[in-house]
Amino acid sequence: MKVIVVGAGAAGLMAAHDLVANGAEVLLLESLNRTGGRIHTQNLPGFTNHVEAGAEFIHGNLPLTLKLMKQSGLTYTPTSGKMYQSVNGKLQCGFGENKSWEDFYEAMSDLKNDRTVSELLDFQFKAKKYEKLRREVSDRAQGLDLADISRLSVFGIRGEWANEETQFRPDSGYSELLQWLYNQTVSPKFKLILNQKVERIDWANDEVTVFTNTESFHADAVLLTLPPVFYKDIAFLPQIQDTISLFETIGFGEVTKLALEFEWPFWENDYPDLGFLFAAEGFTFWTQYPKRSPLLIGWLGNDYAGNYDKFSDEELLKKALLNLEKAFHSKFPVKELYRTGTVFRHTKNSVSRGGYSWPTPQTRKSVKTLQKGIENTIWFAGEALYLEKGAATVEAALQSGKKAASEIIKSLKK
Ligand SMILES: Cc1cc2nc3c(=O)[nH]c(=O)nc-3n(C[C@H](O)[C@H](O)[C@H](O)COP(=O)(O)OP(=O)(O)OC[C@H]3O[C@@H](n4cnc5c(N)ncnc54)[C@H](O)[C@@H]3O)c2cc1C
Repeated sequence: MKVIVVGAGAAGLMAAHDLVANGAEVLLLESLNRTGGRIHTQNLPGFTNHVEAGAEFIHGNLPLTLKLMKQSGLTYTPTSGKMYQSVNGKLQCGFGENKSWEDFYEAMSDLKNDRTVSELLDFQFKAKKYEKLRREVSDRAQGLDLADISRLSVFGIRGEWANEETQFRPDSGYSELLQWLYNQTVSPKFKLILNQKVERIDWANDEVTVFTNTESFHADAVLLTLPPVFYKDIAFLPQIQDTISLFETIGFGEVTKLALEFEWPFWENDYPDLGFLFAAEGFTFWTQYPKRSPLLIGWLGNDYAGNYDKFSDEELLKKALLNLEKAFHSKFPVKELYRTGTVFRHTKNSVSRGGYSWPTPQTRKSVKTLQKGIENTIWFAGEALYLEKGAATVEAALQSGKKAASEIIKSLKK
């Protein structure tokens, strides 16, 4: 049995690993000149430590990620820093911890039929006293979920929003985990080819021909692990337009991440437990707490990322520094302490065309259909196709790859 896996991100590598472990022959095709996809740990000149261009945190007690971390012998550290907001000339500790938010969590949990976050706010939180809450909910959805509340499903996010768990960071960077997974998969039955952009797939029952920019390959089945917005690049023969259009019911947000390195962690005397800082104009910053590091990560979610896309990297870094200076109320000479910076764009016009997925009220039904694949020949995986705990994260990608591999193996045994 030969399977072509398309996309060498976390989902593709996990699926390839499990397929090979179960006796399948696997050809993994990746359009970029590297594996990892939205996981990309980089060692850049001028930075003291590695920087994550994409995924950085393990968002809670996520069983598969933590199991693989342990198996690989890689270490990870809890990120116990506090959240601060810049309010009226002062940094205030805490976010989302007031009565309005409690009311909102309760309303989300009491909801019997799914609706969008906007609908819930319009229905139950129209009163003037909830004005601030409405703004904060939208900012949180944009900032953390990269989502538009007018399409964001309450059922899809209420578990995650109400139960925040301790997060962790892989100490030596996320890419090492994927490198380990790749090393575990290496065998005569496994082949990875980079720089292969899949453009067309001809298929019949139990038979596929996959055409890339340079070659064509045959197999019994194909597993596609692309982000939702990439499916429109591939021509299928016969067409599977009804199935592919299901990806349009999955939200996919934009994000721009900045890394700013300073002479020293200037905030540490005044705010020794600073984890996250919600600043103005859509900027969120975070430290490497509890690790002592002069690195601050900046984050612009969804609309903010899109709006700032016309800025050059240099202009954006300048804007971030100005914003930081304001957030700390000019207490520190931020610009003088700045050493170097870089920008990672995951916006519509970038190579990754977006950051990660978010659920609409239609997503769950679509995902169920997509997970079944097409006639045991075309299969789908990727972070957007796993909606349980850890949705949209590396965990989701790994879980979806594992699940798809198991379905493919089952289909073979029938
Ligand atoms: C800025 C940012 C920060 C994030 N932070 C976190 C975090 O802190 N924690 C967390 O858990 N998650 C985080 N995520 C999400 C996480 O990175 C993703 O959920 C996960 O890495 C997705 O893995 P995947 O395999 O599903 O997709 P991808 O990693 O996108 O892999 C898909 C692969 O398919 C390839 N491909 C696309 N089209 C083709 C084609 N036609 N032919 C061949 N190959 C193709 C792509 O190049 C890519 O390598 C973040 C994402 C971003 C962008």
